[in-house]
Amino acid sequence: MKRLVCMLLLLSSSSLQAAEPQLAVGFAEADISPTLGKKPVYMAGFGTNRTATKIHDPIMARAVVLTDGTKTLALVAVDLVGFFLPQVENIRKELKGVDHLIVSSTHNHEGPDTVGLWGASPFQSGVDAEYVKRIEQTVIKLVGTATKAMVPATAKIGSAHAPELITDNRLPVVKHDELVAIRFDALNSAKSAKPLGVLIQWNCHPETLDDKNREITADFVGYAASHLKKKHDCPVAYFTGTVGGLMTSLKVPLKNTKGENLNDGTFEKAEAFGHALGQVAEKALTASVDATLVPFDLRVQTILVPVENGLYKLAKTAGVLNRPMYVWTDSTTPKDWKETVDVTKPVGVKTEVSYLKLGELDIAAVPGEIYPELVLGKVQDPPDAGADFPDAPIEPALYSPLKGKFKMILGLANDELGYFIPKRQWDAEKPYCYKLKSSQYGEVNSCGPDTAMVICDTFRKLTEAPKK
Ligand SMILES: [Zn+2]
Repeated sequence: MKRLVCMLLLLSSSSLQAAEPQLAVGFAEADISPTLGKKPVYMAGFGTNRTATKIHDPIMARAVVLTDGTKTLALVAVDLVGFFLPQVENIRKELKGVDHLIVSSTHNHEGPDTVGLWGASPFQSGVDAEYVKRIEQTVIKLVGTATKAMVPATAKIGSAHAPELITDNRLPVVKHDELVAIRFDALNSAKSAKPLGVLIQWNCHPETLDDKNREITADFVGYAASHLKKKHDCPVAYFTGTVGGLMTSLKVPLKNTKGENLNDGTFEKAEAFGHALGQVAEKALTASVDATLVPFDLRVQTILVPVENGLYKLAKTAGVLNRPMYVWTDSTTPKDWKETVDVTKPVGVKTEVSYLKLGELDIAAVPGEIYPELVLGKVQDPPDAGADFPDAPIEPALYSPLKGKFKMILGLANDELGYFIPKRQWDAEKPYCYKLKSSQYGEVNSCGPDTAMVICDTFRKLTEAPKK
């Protein structure tokens, strides 16, 4: 009898405790291909005035909504070149039941211009405001659908390296060649059951179709997702990570089944790349191990990033870059956010950095194209003799403070501010690094030489902040 009372006491005390955090996850996807015909659709990523003639394959938005029972996180990947913070803020105003939203662009160079830089001329925006509104509405709906689809789940995480699937076209050669794959299964599901969904994260510009293509496509991302979808019969979400420095699919040597080299600018190569990447993801999934993704600790910092790039300022004045700029007062977290159109004085753009700790998984989410050097702690040391700022301190690497069992990066997360270049690898002035005759590509598409430090230091501080 005494024993029974004890057991009853134990039962009642455990039922009084807060429920253990339990992961639940839901997936959803939607076609976000632009409508062709009525007005020109300017394609993003290369030169101006590249108008779309056809939809070759759909570009997609893919949502993964996760909860630990207390906090809810929505991760959305869009097959676009970039998506600005003001649009993400519009979405958030209408989004209910989500504690944090990340919209990360895959950085597709074969889709519509959603940034502005690729219109009919360098002085005309290529953005169709109606289309951008449609994306906002689609993301709101998609997150709602994925939230409703959430079911208790378990996760397995694995990774695989594929340096052969990245060309680094800017010296020094540093590749972030790790593909991370997460498989979600319904809690207590049979071993043979199909997964709830698969999330993969890889680091490369989707631009295999190159600069002459005029057919809208998701490039290798679409083919990789199809490959995995076919194999697992479940939703697949692809996220872009480190793409600066510059990680590209161009010049990656791939052959067809006859052993012939595949050329850039062909769908055949984009498809072969997608399948090859799908196989790398398979390898990562085969190597995956059980991962605890609860509880959640979601940390976000809104910051002001100084804009020193004269071209960006010009584009702002011309209305090509249509987003607010703020008075820059040497503070990344000003007390007063004063909007300004006067770009003759120091200005900045508002953006945000997130550190998402999901149990054993650490996620860094950065608002642009970060160089692998800054993620992996491989900034050139000592710097090259030609560097513009050889004495610049090395930025704190994103991955160094992350002590979780698993890590992952989301690039172009909630913004696209261009390249984050290590300051001591900044090379706009003569003499050029590595004895090159001209400067390497990169600086022209960066807010400035101090951007990387602002981003990396903000992230470091987020990781060091006490747990809320
Ligand atoms: Zn890029």
